[in-house]
Amino acid sequence: MPRWGMVIDLDRCIGCEACVVACQAENNVPINTEDVYHQRRAIAWIRVERYWEGEYPNIKARYIPVPCMQCTNAPCEPVCPVYATYHTTEGINMQVYNRCIGTRYCAVNCHWHVRFFNFWEPKWPDSLKNQLNPDVTVRSRGVMEKCNFCVHRIVKAEQKAKVEKRALRTDEVTTACAQACPTNAIVFGDLDDPNSAVSKLLAQAEQEGRVYRLLEDLGTDPKVYYLKKIDVAAAAEPAATH
Ligand code: SF4
Repeated sequence: MPRWGMVIDLDRCIGCEACVVACQAENNVPINTEDVYHQRRAIAWIRVERYWEGEYPNIKARYIPVPCMQCTNAPCEPVCPVYATYHTTEGINMQVYNRCIGTRYCAVNCHWHVRFFNFWEPKWPDSLKNQLNPDVTVRSRGVMEKCNFCVHRIVKAEQKAKVEKRALRTDEVTTACAQACPTNAIVFGDLDDPNSAVSKLLAQAEQEGRVYRLLEDLGTDPKVYYLKKIDVAAAAEPAATH
């Protein structure tokens, strides 16, 4: 049984947001217009946060893509009164749209702000209606939604493997954000498969002391790992002597 996870290398991320666009298109996320942003009701299953480091003119931009952290001990789950969010056997934190009654308790209890409420019926311009993904449910007004590691892709790959009477191949499935990233900053795969790209990357980065997770002290055991940015200039500075 795979245990799906993701590694995001911040050294490779250039903040282009191709991952965001790919996710919106893949998962039928409605278009976020300017008024929606102003009302703080934009929906983005993955967002790219930008930080500025240093003082002008020596300023550096830092980018951190933030999808659902897919916590093993997900704080959003026990607060749902109708069991609309739960864990699959493969460890994916899922949202059952037709069970959700819109209390939004899960959003309040998520520390990463990666759960979104549909305040309106979703709308697309006519020119985009034919591009909706038939494998993904269009969510209606009044329900929560979030990143689910492109679970429809995983299910499809598992069904294909079953029809072909074989096991799922290592790295046979990936998410839309990982597929679209031009710098391969995002890698998705089975954390329990030592031969998967994600496991190899993690093993190497752990030796280098580059691995961390967002707010990992909270003990929720996220399955999204980040690789620390290496500041080449700072690393080249000679160590202070006393
Ligand atoms: S597509 Fe890749 S490089 Fe671009 S913002 Fe997303 S993670 Fe960063």
